[in-house]
Amino acid sequence: MNGIVDMRSDTVTLPTDAMRAAMARAEVGDDVNAEDPTVNELEEYAADLFGKEAALFVTSGTQGNAVAMMAHTVPGDLVYCETRAHVGHYEGGGPAALAGVTLEKISCDRGILTAERVEEAMEPEDVHLAVPRVIWAENTSNGGGGTCMTVAEMEGLRTLANRYGLKIHVDGARIFNAAAGLGVSVKDLAAAADTVQFCLSKGLGAPVGSMVVGPRSFRKAAHRKRKMLGGGLRQAGVIAAAGLVALKETPSLIPLDHANARSLAQGIAEIPGLLIDPDGVETNLVYFGYEAGVVDSKRFVGQLSERGYLIGEARKGVSRACTHHQVSADDVGGALAAMREAAAAASPA
Ligand SMILES: *Cc1c(COP(=O)(O)O)cnc(C)c1O
Repeated sequence: MNGIVDMRSDTVTLPTDAMRAAMARAEVGDDVNAEDPTVNELEEYAADLFGKEAALFVTSGTQGNAVAMMAHTVPGDLVYCETRAHVGHYEGGGPAALAGVTLEKISCDRGILTAERVEEAMEPEDVHLAVPRVIWAENTSNGGGGTCMTVAEMEGLRTLANRYGLKIHVDGARIFNAAAGLGVSVKDLAAAADTVQFCLSKGLGAPVGSMVVGPRSFRKAAHRKRKMLGGGLRQAGVIAAAGLVALKETPSLIPLDHANARSLAQGIAEIPGLLIDPDGVETNLVYFGYEAGVVDSKRFVGQLSERGYLIGEARKGVSRACTHHQVSADDVGGALAAMREAAAAASPA
């Protein structure tokens, strides 16, 4: 990547030669008429991989979540999610603006929504209350630190959802990281969910796109919402082709990203002034803080970028470095050497 090692996010991954080649030769048609064979192939492949009836190609994770929210609810409904969930923080107020729903945010350890915590938040039916409709899980939890929700935790949510007639949606932007982190398949992680959104454009490395998977009836409803939001694309096969390559080729590389994230975290733990619990790093996201009065976070990030290594600010005084298939073990070694120098050069003014 031009000598720069970009660990701000896994969204910065660039399409591989195989993706570009597949894009160049993709068979295409008008997908609004369901006539794009490459999109159709991607949707069938994704549905099968997740053990669901149907899949819908959408432009982004945010759009996938939006169409799922709109398909599952009517205005006025209540949706349970974790306090740090992407849907409540980073989707521009979409749940309220587009679906007219209220989010009930529930604080849980590691950002992982559990049946116990959701049940505690539930109230007996009452005319004053919004009608609960969806349990909205996130796997991995970005805000929780790239943490994994297990199959057993998903099954716990399913039991609760069945008891109260609720749907379960998984924001699985990084569900392939969860699967690799836990050593299970995405199908296993999706089994207890009604619907799942996952990103092709993050760790899987495709340039554009996400998928939502679920029952055929859900796909039909989500498809109408996608059109309403302006997400009906025409010859979308040129981008779906890259998504197919991403789905087939990148998941096997993810364990390496996780090993790199672990060594990055272990290295960071040894740098004076940086704060991290390396045991908390479960997947490809490495969050760390700064010892007050020793290292200034803004100066550190600036010093690091001067040395060719980019990381992101997660929130005030907390940085996030993200490994992906275009960050090598050597890059991690280089990053740690640069971090050591940057920390020494970034004492508060
Ligand atoms: C990135 C992300 C999304 C949104 O995906 P975009 O393609 O950026 O719109 C949704 N949920 C989570 C957990 C994410 O990390």
